[in-house]
Amino acid sequence: MNDKCYYCGESSTSIEHVPPKCFFPKEDRSSYKIDLITVPSCDKHNLEKSKDDEFLRSICGSELSANIKAIQYEKIFRSLIRRDASLLKATMKNIRPVSIGINQTCVFNYNKERFNQCIVNIAKGLYFNEYKKQCNYNWQIVNIKEIFTISSTESRNNAIGYFDCLTQFLNKNRFDVIQTSAPSVFQYSRANVEKYSSYCIYKLRFYEGIEILAAPHLKTLKNISKG
Ligand SMILES: [Zn+2]
Repeated sequence: MNDKCYYCGESSTSIEHVPPKCFFPKEDRSSYKIDLITVPSCDKHNLEKSKDDEFLRSICGSELSANIKAIQYEKIFRSLIRRDASLLKATMKNIRPVSIGINQTCVFNYNKERFNQCIVNIAKGLYFNEYKKQCNYNWQIVNIKEIFTISSTESRNNAIGYFDCLTQFLNKNRFDVIQTSAPSVFQYSRANVEKYSSYCIYKLRFYEGIEILAAPHLKTLKNISKG
């Protein structure tokens, strides 16, 4: 393979799915296999991150509003936990029960840095797929629902500051929904930074539940606005 890795530009050795293949239930894969988004990848940015892929899928699939595709996974996940409790410990910390209405569920903490890096991989993969080149700016990752539940004033102000900055670039812009072959697993929409079409803002949605914004980092946005 002569193509360059979508992430680092090294020679590619395999094909990476965007989002990772483990997001798609096995029995469904053959039906939409032809249309899944794939990009060339080196080992480091595909095979060596398979644990991160599982981690990300577990977090996205355990979101309260996740659909039936994610629940199919829950069974697999439970059987894995029975065999190896360290997987659960590594993914979800400080699990505690809560009631929402009449429903019993649980909340947990997770490693945000690891989560965000996994989302950056996906954003870079989508970017490569669309522009046929590596993305060379840094990303800022925001879990959209979490903005409303951020407890610390500092992080809330940071989030609001970031959105203020982002809105300036989106004034006359809008998000276009991009068709994917398995929308029950993954959907996304894209807006471009005004006048700078090579900067993308993605809204990612997994299992019709969790929504994540991946956009140029605040520093990048400020540099663009300086001209
Ligand atoms: Zn690479």
